[in-house]
Amino acid sequence: MNIYSLCRKEGIGLAGGSKEFKPTATGRGGRDPEAERDEQELRLKASMSRIKHKIVVLSGKGGVGKSTVTANLAMALAIRGHFGRVGVLDADITGPSIPKMLGVRGRRLDAGSPGLFPVVAPFNMRIVSMDFLLPSDETPVIWRGPLKSMAIRQFLAEVVWGDLDFLIVDLPPGTGDEALTIMQSIPNIGGVVIVTIPSEVSQIVVKKAVTFTRKLNAPVLGIVENMSGFVCPKCGTEVNIFRVGGGQKIAEELRVRFLGRIPLDPTICEDSDEGTPFVVRHSESPAATAFAEIVKKIEGLLETVPT
Ligand code: ADP
Repeated sequence: MNIYSLCRKEGIGLAGGSKEFKPTATGRGGRDPEAERDEQELRLKASMSRIKHKIVVLSGKGGVGKSTVTANLAMALAIRGHFGRVGVLDADITGPSIPKMLGVRGRRLDAGSPGLFPVVAPFNMRIVSMDFLLPSDETPVIWRGPLKSMAIRQFLAEVVWGDLDFLIVDLPPGTGDEALTIMQSIPNIGGVVIVTIPSEVSQIVVKKAVTFTRKLNAPVLGIVENMSGFVCPKCGTEVNIFRVGGGQKIAEELRVRFLGRIPLDPTICEDSDEGTPFVVRHSESPAATAFAEIVKKIEGLLETVPT
């Protein structure tokens, strides 16, 4: 069953512009499900083998800026020499926010004979999200784990990602079905970036995210501490709204790399809401510099300094 049939079967009307998707290999009705699954696995492996580095962005809890970090890391990579070679998979099936942040809300996936074509975002980034299939803002996806997992595997196997340097996967918060599906389906994950805020409440769940990643034998690239400190634009006073240094502390405790600290910056929020690329628009800001430094570290770890 392909993603369009799945949506219809589960009562999600499709976006007006969505054409019927006619998969070439999997999804034809009346076939042996096991053969279908094997065929999908082959397509998934073939598709993923054309992507040099698959990076997963994970957080223990919601609201810590995981999608913001995903979107800005992707843009920072694209402008650092990977133009046209960065893809983002929004694996948050029920709460997709990547299209909004990257300014491609309301766009549709194109379907052709080889499969589904990602939406092209600024810097020629390839984006895939459930949001591109939904008919309206109010349409919820009320699916249990297995259906969400099925959709994610479709996005990995049936999307024509092409040759990329990086695929960055934005997961929903926590270590649930989507996270498990991604970690078990993508061969050779380059690494997992774990996003947290400095508060102790957030630290507890970081431990779970690190343990989860290790259990699934994926490398932890490191921890990013987001919303780390705030400098008042009016008086210049520095305020640590969510405390500071918690990410580094937990990284040391868990013996994982600390990738960097991103301050609270109202322009990050504004640019995300407007779908404009923060790292370009505010390239001189401490937060944009922090993103660039983190990307440099990630490139170094994966040894892909652009030519
Ligand atoms: P998550 O994916 O972890 O649920 P989001 O990335 O959706 O979190 O971020 C939640 C909200 O916080 C968004 O409105 C986003 O714009 C804002 N935000 C994230 N990081 C920052 C930051 N460093 N400074 C200011 N706002 C931020």
